[in-house]
Amino acid sequence: MNNPVEYDYLIVGAGLYGSVFAHEATKAGKRCLVIDKRDHIGGNVYCENNDGINVHKYGAHIFHTNDKTIWDYVNQFAEFNNYVNSPVSISKGKLYNLPFNMNTFNQLWGVMTPAEAKEIIDEQIATYGVKQPKNLEEQALSLIGKDVYETLIKEYTEKQWGRKATELPAFIIKRLPVRYTFNNNYFNDKYQGIPIGGYNKIIEGLLAGVDVKLGIDFFVNKDELVGLAKKVVFTGKIDEYFDYELGELEYRSLRFEHETLATDNFQGNAVVNYNDSKYAYTRIIEHKHFEFGKQNHTVVTREYPEQWSRDKEAYYPINDEKNGSLYQAYKKLAIAKEHVIFGGRLAEYRYYDMHQVIGAALAKSKKELT
Ligand code: UDP
Repeated sequence: MNNPVEYDYLIVGAGLYGSVFAHEATKAGKRCLVIDKRDHIGGNVYCENNDGINVHKYGAHIFHTNDKTIWDYVNQFAEFNNYVNSPVSISKGKLYNLPFNMNTFNQLWGVMTPAEAKEIIDEQIATYGVKQPKNLEEQALSLIGKDVYETLIKEYTEKQWGRKATELPAFIIKRLPVRYTFNNNYFNDKYQGIPIGGYNKIIEGLLAGVDVKLGIDFFVNKDELVGLAKKVVFTGKIDEYFDYELGELEYRSLRFEHETLATDNFQGNAVVNYNDSKYAYTRIIEHKHFEFGKQNHTVVTREYPEQWSRDKEAYYPINDEKNGSLYQAYKKLAIAKEHVIFGGRLAEYRYYDMHQVIGAALAKSKKELT
């Protein structure tokens, strides 16, 4: 017999999107094979255990959502702790609370009431803001004024994206809340936390009973692999799937430098941002604080933004106009491929958070399986 079709779905990528899809399809009685080129499951949410500390190998992941369905969904696989993300930022030798709130305004100007803070910010917005911000700098100046922009946004953002703030899309900064209360919670969502036991527990739960093969590069044996299943769920880079035939989409890459230290507490917080351009990294993560760890040692990770090239991991899509229209052209090709589902941050070229990836995978699997 030629090329026996053993599976209903070949799922390329064992990250959140692929794992949620595989779980739903398996529940619906379908046979799935999940492959990943890495030697572990979980994609970028994968954690490595370092003597009891879950190290977020591919950058900090803090789960948050407003959607009770998604919260209940992840809670099937792990209990969550009550971690609340409250990063601080170091700028020109001083430390500030994030997101921008009354604590930050007090640290910047010594103001103590919302009215005093608002007066300063409104005056700066009136002087420097514009009605229809066309780029990130204009957006920041129109949202929060000059002092916050120059102290806590400009240099961080230019390091993070490797471009001038005037050449970046405005929407990136809309992720950051502005508050006139003393509330250091970085997110506005109703539900937040870190899975007790780490993210691997969630992925292992999602993939229980699913065939998984690791260390497999889809593009090396594409024809053979595709022949194993009736349909393909592809979660890698959409431009790579089409062999870059319309050109390359741009991404931003990251390099992580992990270090184990013989101290129980290095920086007193899980996330410390470094605004100034003199630091090549944007933030230092101290992983134990995500889980209130009591170990005698600690693990820290410095996060260095890097220019992306094909041999590097693609972490962030660059959702500007040029890349947006190239993606739309690839999407047309994708829609024509009826036996392939494209999903997730890289295949949909979207700056998704975890809860959004899960939401997208649930919506797609529901449509596909019913
Ligand atoms: N940002 C900033 N200063 C900070 C933290 C973030 O200006 O101290 C800006 C920056 O442009 C960044 C965006 O806010 O790209 C979103 O940052 P966040 O940390 O929320 O996103 P993540 O990189 O974790 O996806």
